[in-house]
Amino acid sequence: MAINGATELYGIMGNPVAHSLSPAMHNGAFGALGLNKVYLPFAVQDVAQAMTGFRALGIKGVSVTIPHKQAVIPYLDTIDPVAEKIGAVNTLVINNTAIHGENTDWLGANRALSEKISLKGASVLLLGAGGSARAIGFGLLEAGASLTIASRTPEKGQGLARLLDCPWLPLAEAGTVTADALVNATSMGMGSQQDLLPIARETLANFGVVMDIVYAPLATRLLQEAEKAGCQTIDGLAMLLYQGAAQFELWTGQQAPVEVMRQSLLTSLGYNP
Ligand code: NAP
Repeated sequence: MAINGATELYGIMGNPVAHSLSPAMHNGAFGALGLNKVYLPFAVQDVAQAMTGFRALGIKGVSVTIPHKQAVIPYLDTIDPVAEKIGAVNTLVINNTAIHGENTDWLGANRALSEKISLKGASVLLLGAGGSARAIGFGLLEAGASLTIASRTPEKGQGLARLLDCPWLPLAEAGTVTADALVNATSMGMGSQQDLLPIARETLANFGVVMDIVYAPLATRLLQEAEKAGCQTIDGLAMLLYQGAAQFELWTGQQAPVEVMRQSLLTSLGYNP
């Protein structure tokens, strides 16, 4: 679709943002459906000025990434109740000048898990207590799952467990838990931590489903070991894809072309020839 006077502008605000996979994913989706929309990266330092700019320029929707997911909240006109509970917004839906905040990270995680397991009444062991664990934890409770958190730093982990009203245990003891699903929301398995396992290999058979939200690499050591242990596995692309699909649907009111978006992500990650 050629850019013209009627093209609608979307984007992602973060800092840094140049590494983001979202422009490829959303422009791929807009193109596939022939929508006259374009999605750009915005490297934002001053959140207040950026929010004024979005309103002034008639921008229609914005993804929000690190470090701005909490900082945008005071500048919203309305916020989704789950996003408010999580305390983080990753999606802005802008109608004229009114900015509404949503969080689709938890929707993405729930949809990814729901492809393998019914979440209502399921037991889930969540590893980690950072930003992603927080969104995933609130989302799992929304879906009616019962939660246990295991993480490295006690004060942080216990703080999140208090908020979610669930048990916490040290990461080193995660292998003592048996649950329907295990979700790794730590950075273990990614980049320089690629060789690290967040839980002992011998204990993976305690879980029916293992989801890793790390997506670089896709076949993390945890998922390789989980497959050997006979678990069903879900890689980090699924959450990334479905949080983006939920954004697309909020912005367009149309069903997201998830296969196109998946291929755009795979190409960006270097998996497609
Ligand atoms: P974060 O807020 O920095 O939290 C990181 C968590 O990992 C913390 O709980 C931290 O422990 C733990 N951790 C890191 N290294 C560890 C180690 N060596 N041993 C034990 N625990 C360790 O990061 P985040 O934003 O939640 O992101 C976490 C991971 O998810 C990243 O790899 C990110 O790329 C990935 N991610 C994926 C998606 C997706 O859509 N697939 C979305 C967002 C993020 P402490 O509690 O001790 O600090």
